[in-house]
Amino acid sequence: MKPNINTFAPDARSNDSHYKIASLPKGSRIAIVGAGAFGGWSALYLLRAGYKVTLIDTWGAGNSRSSSGDETRVIRSTYGSNGFYFDLNVRALELWKENQQRWGKKLFYNSGVIWFCYQEKNPIVDDSIPFAAKHKMDYEYLTTAEIEKRYSVIQTNDLHHAWLDPFGGYLKARESCQAVKEAFVAEGGMFINAFVKPQHSASDYASGLLLSNGTIFQSDLQLFACGSWLPELFPSLLSAKITCSKQEAYYFGVPKEKAAAFDQLPAWIDLDGNDFYYGIPGNAARGFKIGVDKRGEAFDPTQGEHIINPTVLTEARKFIGHRFRSLGSSPLLENRVCPYENSPDGNFVFGSHPENDRVLILGGGSGHGFKHGPALGEMVANLIATGGNINSLFSLSK
Ligand SMILES: Cc1cc2nc3c(=O)[nH]c(=O)nc-3n(C[C@H](O)[C@H](O)[C@H](O)COP(=O)(O)OP(=O)(O)OC[C@H]3O[C@@H](n4cnc5c(N)ncnc54)[C@H](O)[C@@H]3O)c2cc1C
Repeated sequence: MKPNINTFAPDARSNDSHYKIASLPKGSRIAIVGAGAFGGWSALYLLRAGYKVTLIDTWGAGNSRSSSGDETRVIRSTYGSNGFYFDLNVRALELWKENQQRWGKKLFYNSGVIWFCYQEKNPIVDDSIPFAAKHKMDYEYLTTAEIEKRYSVIQTNDLHHAWLDPFGGYLKARESCQAVKEAFVAEGGMFINAFVKPQHSASDYASGLLLSNGTIFQSDLQLFACGSWLPELFPSLLSAKITCSKQEAYYFGVPKEKAAAFDQLPAWIDLDGNDFYYGIPGNAARGFKIGVDKRGEAFDPTQGEHIINPTVLTEARKFIGHRFRSLGSSPLLENRVCPYENSPDGNFVFGSHPENDRVLILGGGSGHGFKHGPALGEMVANLIATGGNINSLFSLSK
């Protein structure tokens, strides 16, 4: 059954000795298929680690069909009792800041992230508080009176309290993918705009990638970071494991006299236990964003039309009118359909193909992968360089 939302088991930090990756000598040729958040950052960090890297994408970095191709994505550390993702996000945050400074481009907006809590206890946030303390990135508990005092446009009548993570915020998504690709090329990587044709077996890929431009591309290792298209490339291994769902996000216009008040709001996540709405009020000046984390219908990432479901829109509009003062009759400015590439348990997937250890698979972002891009890329590069055990959270055999 498709997961409705991600529920993360506590991180057992299991480094299963059967689940490892073979090391690859520096200077070897690596082909990466997919220039989204996962493939792009992996390409950059493998290049920086001393490999000869080629990045291949059919429609380009941050294209509108990809999961990474929206305007913005939330960045937050909170993962319930799972410390692995918390730590990964802390590292990602450092790397986002480091790279944006290096490129002179603002990609991370430190707006903070507010979690709307309906109950006294909310394990998804509460269980992360010790991790926040460990990193000296404490969250702030806000009573409903404090929320209303600080953010006059938020309605709190059905809330118990909120937690504010002042270290999170949002990222520019499409623009980041393009910035990563530009940096990759500027630092000496090669980018090819082509489709990698699906083959029958992993060994067929290892002997050369057949490209839509008619060439066969040879390399010593192939990393497939193709998001929702992974099952198309590895049907027998992945079609039951990576499922693609249709997700929607809407950008609403805020009233002109309240624009500043909305712009100053943190990104928000609503723990209603049903739709799991989230949003980015500033949203890089594109309008007040609301997204629906509840899994949508099955979606074809290539042929699926990016047309929203009017019922989902009506419900989302009702919600923002309820939660935010003066948004009840806001006009819809833009809408997005984006695919989630769901793994069975919401964890990312990384490892070598069981039939060929020179073919690696990276994916399963499951609606929360974007922010981790740089830390995941760094982790992938370190594992390929040293040949180490992979955390079993990422196991392909789950
Ligand atoms: C609506 C929505 C909201 C989200 N919100 C958040 C959020 O707030 N925070 C967060 O951290 N994450 C969020 N996510 C999740 C995050 O965006 C994804 O996990 C992440 O972007 C996945 O990146 P990827 O590189 O694996 O896949 P993609 O971005 O889909 O990239 C795959 C790439 O592979 C290319 N490709 C595929 N097949 C081939 C082929 N055969 N040959 C050549 N190229 C190929 C495609 O063109 C594409 O560019 C959200 C996702 C969606 C859809």
